[in-house]
Amino acid sequence: MRCHRWNDGSAAVYALLSIWICVIISLVTSPDKGRETLAAAEKECLLLLDPGHGGLDGGAVSVTGTAESRINYDIAERCLYLGRFCGLRTAMTRDSYEIEYPPEARSIAARKKWDTRNRASIANETPDAVLMSIHQNYYPSANPHGAQVLYASNEPSRVLAENLQTAFSAMLPSDNRRRAVPADRDIYLMSHVRCPAVLVECGFLSNPEEAARLESAHYQKKLSLVMIGVFCREQEHCT
Ligand SMILES: [Zn+2]
Repeated sequence: MRCHRWNDGSAAVYALLSIWICVIISLVTSPDKGRETLAAAEKECLLLLDPGHGGLDGGAVSVTGTAESRINYDIAERCLYLGRFCGLRTAMTRDSYEIEYPPEARSIAARKKWDTRNRASIANETPDAVLMSIHQNYYPSANPHGAQVLYASNEPSRVLAENLQTAFSAMLPSDNRRRAVPADRDIYLMSHVRCPAVLVECGFLSNPEEAARLESAHYQKKLSLVMIGVFCREQEHCT
């Protein structure tokens, strides 16, 4: 059994911080944009958090040797708990660092293929889902840095991605001029889900300073506050 690791701060502090984040995010993102997005559902949306990679697939590796999948999972889990604390409907596509593969998927390739399709199925079978897939970026040189949001090819996804990107640029300690961009068609999850969906590259594991931040509890909390703040703000228009 996994123990919950978010025990290094009081709930009251995070409640106050999340309210503050929502206020700031309301100032940096456009209300009209929000109304165009999740409002279309006309009901309470469910934030479905997808920690990228996991199981036998560690994803990228940070300059300190930490697997991307671990960081993805920890950030997604922080978002899950913060969202629940704020009264939002939240869920994850899995609840462990590990993945249980079906016995018929024996090779690594077969297991990865099953995993990718399984995540898309979970999103498509979850009513009123808004999918946020959490990842970390990597580049052969150390210089690139900053969070970037990719989105599925529909209008609610684009608007959610742009509001997230605006909030990241305004609230994270980085001269981040990146823009939200459409996800490539070859990213299976983004091209096979029907709900609003974004893929958040939280930062670059190839940049030593950013990798150290991404691995720290403090920065992971900051990231989750921004993501939940944006979702919470748009959720106002869903209810
Ligand atoms: Zn990844």
